[in-house]
Amino acid sequence: MDYDVLVLGGGIIGCAIAYELSKYNLNISVIEKDYDICNDMPSINTESIYDGLECSDEVSSKLIRKGNLLMEEYVNRFKVPYKRCGTIYIARDDSEAERVDEMYERALNKKIDEVKLIIGDEILKYEPNIKGKVIKSLYIPNTGVVASYDFALAYGEIAFDNGVNFKLEEEVKSIEHISKGFKIKTNKNKFTSKIVIDTTKDLNLQFEDGYVPKEDREKYMKYMVMDKKYDSLYSNILLNVGDKERIFVRPTVNNETMASYSRRENIAYDDVVKKVEPLTGHIKEKDIKMVRDWRFINEPVNLQGDIMETGYLSLNVNHYAMVTMTPALALSISQKVVEKLNCKLRKDFNDKRREYFKFRELSNEERNSLIKVDNKYGNIICQCQKVTEGEIVDAIRRPLGARTVTGVKRRTGAGHGSCDGCYCKDKIVEILAREMDKRIIEIVNNSKDSTVLSSRIKEFDTM
Ligand SMILES: Cc1cc2nc3c(=O)[nH]c(=O)nc-3n(C[C@H](O)[C@H](O)[C@H](O)COP(=O)(O)OP(=O)(O)OC[C@H]3O[C@@H](n4cnc5c(N)ncnc54)[C@H](O)[C@@H]3O)c2cc1C
Repeated sequence: MDYDVLVLGGGIIGCAIAYELSKYNLNISVIEKDYDICNDMPSINTESIYDGLECSDEVSSKLIRKGNLLMEEYVNRFKVPYKRCGTIYIARDDSEAERVDEMYERALNKKIDEVKLIIGDEILKYEPNIKGKVIKSLYIPNTGVVASYDFALAYGEIAFDNGVNFKLEEEVKSIEHISKGFKIKTNKNKFTSKIVIDTTKDLNLQFEDGYVPKEDREKYMKYMVMDKKYDSLYSNILLNVGDKERIFVRPTVNNETMASYSRRENIAYDDVVKKVEPLTGHIKEKDIKMVRDWRFINEPVNLQGDIMETGYLSLNVNHYAMVTMTPALALSISQKVVEKLNCKLRKDFNDKRREYFKFRELSNEERNSLIKVDNKYGNIICQCQKVTEGEIVDAIRRPLGARTVTGVKRRTGAGHGSCDGCYCKDKIVEILAREMDKRIIEIVNNSKDSTVLSSRIKEFDTM
């Protein structure tokens, strides 16, 4: 057999399973069709760490709770930005107050014992910036926000450094059962493996105008990242308890404020702005830094196959709390593989992620000493986010480094400022071309046919 374990799909769950398995004496490969790992994660790099209160099916609920409890250990180990903060559900009228009571009962049934039912203005002790009348609230201290993309990359980078073979730009075409294992055909190769874990769940759904979600489990979701003056508006995640729609405002790991709205029917951004105003106050257009559309999916966790019996497992999980579940899910799947193959822990496993620097978070003294070691850290490429050439070069040269403009933006934050990349995109393209020894017209934004420049009209040395 070519491999002991083949993981299909290099999203957060594929990388996390590869990381857990790389602690053992196993020959592992991850096959990913895109240029980059974790490319399908939401582009706003901060996500809620849930507690399982709102989840209706028991399997997902337990995984969320277990993942929540493991999260702190993992983010500390990987040095990933993370903030423990509470979640507050607010009721402003009698019917919402009834829902809060139901949620309180549900929390107690789920053994979320830290939950508190709070009457009237007393909530201001926990969150003094709430405006308007509040009848009742539910406060859960045990939630948080995490830099989810960074978290996913950390899993992948450590797995790579411990010998996992990542095959990027390779698309799985078919899986065939053979004696004692599986044969996998891709667009480039054929492999055999004793165990196959499929995390690809090809949905073939695009979010585009005119798309109508087929099921109640899917909703339209709109995010707005607010301008600096909204920074640290709330220290907790705040939610309304409406039946058909969900409005929430949450702090990001960088203390920015993100307002979100989700509903089954699509609505225009102007209406979204009005919907979130009870939590944010009046919003002027210029105070919205970034907007994003997405699908909000709440499908029960669906695992098909059985590692112990057949050696094959397919994870069809499209869930709004997948990041929260990941540590628990990856750990339990890897334990099954270990049991099946009866493998031993490696003595040389290195559980450390290679260091990286964020210029904007360093003191002047630290900046100066970094520039002395590498003067690329003295050249600011993204003025809005204060990202240096040194950080961009590191993002490209790291294990499983960036190959696309989006890969650089996501890793470094360059281009995510108020100008949305107007001033730095060209420079990022040039650095990518130089580092990868390619022509600038070959550099892509994200996917295969997304070249940034279609051709050159004159031969200049720089853009
Ligand atoms: C808008 C939004 C908000 C979210 N917010 C939160 C939150 O606040 N908290 C939270 O815990 N979770 C949240 N989530 C959930 C979480 O971000 C995603 O569910 C998670 O990133 C999915 O990871 P995955 O590894 O399961 O799947 P994916 O990232 O989809 O990975 C699957 C991979 O398989 C690859 N692939 C597909 N087909 C093939 C093939 N044939 N061959 C090779 N490779 C293939 C794909 O390219 C992809 O990289 C949110 C999700 C969304 C969409």
